[in-house]
Amino acid sequence: MFIPKRLSLARHRRRLTAKALAGLAGLAVDTISRLENGVNEPDDATVERLAHALGFPVGFFVSDDPEVIDTSAVSFRSFSKMSARERDAALAAGALGLELSNWVEDRFSLPEPNLIDLSYETDPEAAANMLRQYWGLGEKPIGHLIALLETHGARVFSLSENTASVNAFSFWRDGKPYIFLNNFKTSESSNFDLAHELGHLVMHKHGDPKGARSTEREADGFASAFLMPARDVRSRMPRPVTINVVLAAKARWRVSAMAMAYRLRALSVISEWQYKSLCIELTKRGFRTGEPGGIERETSPIWRKVLTQLWSERVTKDEIARDLNLPVDELEGLIWNLAAVGQRPDRVNTPPRLEAM
Ligand SMILES: [Zn+2]
Repeated sequence: MFIPKRLSLARHRRRLTAKALAGLAGLAVDTISRLENGVNEPDDATVERLAHALGFPVGFFVSDDPEVIDTSAVSFRSFSKMSARERDAALAAGALGLELSNWVEDRFSLPEPNLIDLSYETDPEAAANMLRQYWGLGEKPIGHLIALLETHGARVFSLSENTASVNAFSFWRDGKPYIFLNNFKTSESSNFDLAHELGHLVMHKHGDPKGARSTEREADGFASAFLMPARDVRSRMPRPVTINVVLAAKARWRVSAMAMAYRLRALSVISEWQYKSLCIELTKRGFRTGEPGGIERETSPIWRKVLTQLWSERVTKDEIARDLNLPVDELEGLIWNLAAVGQRPDRVNTPPRLEAM
């Protein structure tokens, strides 16, 4: 049976208006809206045309009702910078990610969620300290943030949105925390985005009663404190704080140079004047727009394990995509483009079936 919501989902994912899709599929605009609203039931030929135009398998449109992510249930960073089309496309990726997540949980047992509810806490610095304490992290820098979050039960997916206006979003679903992280920006910025979403998950679990501006500020404050604990930063920073000191420090705490400088200012380790001159120098050296000599991008250890295990059972990524009725590129986009996982060096010239994994 044709599922109208799946047509909207695929169309949003492809960033198409109903009119654009109608043009691609050679159908009338009215037909698209009637199908999406469930007024008409399409014949097989129409479903084929839509599937072809959208680049989704026919099976995608005749499956169960899709998971739908409600905009209001999602904490978006810089929500306002995003166009409605970008937002809908990202939310559609989230919906596909939930289907993928359910598929994995039917086959593997993933870590149980182990986050605490800190919604009563209004000070992000204190919230970050409490979560660090709860997870027994002390005040050391975090080596691999995605691994840490996954160990504590967060389901972390990648977004392959080719735009800087989509950073990340997160939400709770059936008692499980989900984070979708765009990997368009530098690894350091992505790490900060990840910690920012973690802040939303623990501090804003019950929505946003205070209005978006303060929750965004709180999540940023949480990220900053969680990644760069005050006591550790104060005791570890050599004085005077020169630009080279900042560059060494940002590598230690795995954050951007700008985030490091901002933190030093916030902790009064440097003065406003020092902060400003550091920013000027960092901008000159390209740290406003990028992260020269940055850290390697983190990917998901859980997905690496899952893919390796499946590969050892001769289950390829193409087969997972087929099982889920997803285009392979959509699957890859959600799982960190871990295309080469499961290939041993001695198996470089593997048959196509194995290479696909
Ligand atoms: Zn946010």
